[in-house]
Amino acid sequence: MASGGGVNIPQPPKPPNHYWNDWWKDFSNDYFTDPGKLATIKNALQNAYNLLAIRLLELQTWNPAHKAYFKRHFGRDDNAAKKIIEKRVKKEMSIIKRWLQNDNYKKQIFEGKKSGWAHVYKTDLGFDVFLDAKFWNSPQMGPDSQAGAIIHELSHFQNVGNTTDFDKYGNKVYGIPRVRRLISSDANQALRHADAFEYYIEGSF
Ligand SMILES: [Zn+2]
Repeated sequence: MASGGGVNIPQPPKPPNHYWNDWWKDFSNDYFTDPGKLATIKNALQNAYNLLAIRLLELQTWNPAHKAYFKRHFGRDDNAAKKIIEKRVKKEMSIIKRWLQNDNYKKQIFEGKKSGWAHVYKTDLGFDVFLDAKFWNSPQMGPDSQAGAIIHELSHFQNVGNTTDFDKYGNKVYGIPRVRRLISSDANQALRHADAFEYYIEGSF
């Protein structure tokens, strides 16, 4: 903690801990082989794809109801914001589609940590995803679901959405009440916030 001589300067965002924690351990992970877990993952990917397809259609139809729904999740509904989200949705759909072809997801998704939902390394150009303990006990659909965890994690990749879990001061923002506060106070940050995107796709509020 730097002492600023009484001047209160907002701190730049901290990198998420999951950037480097367990970096080594992740490389020793094996592919999933358990049939039950593989079926759960495939189901989550199919649900995620279907939810993204619904939002893409809304973005392309863009009637007043779609616009209002979008604004509820990002605090703005201008064309630039719509373009950012549309691009992100399309990228995620193309990755998931590729993963579902020939069961390719079996080579992209790995067992993760004993805490948290899931994590990724956002600079990873191969888009590997690690599923953590909470993932398995989450609902299939709805708020904080398995489908949503996939949508959230994919959005973190620099080449997908380059989203963050933090506000602009570096504080972690998670869960519906906190994310809704972020949306109403800082629309620009909401647009690049992983949970805001997840809740938008999941239809959480
Ligand atoms: Zn995250």
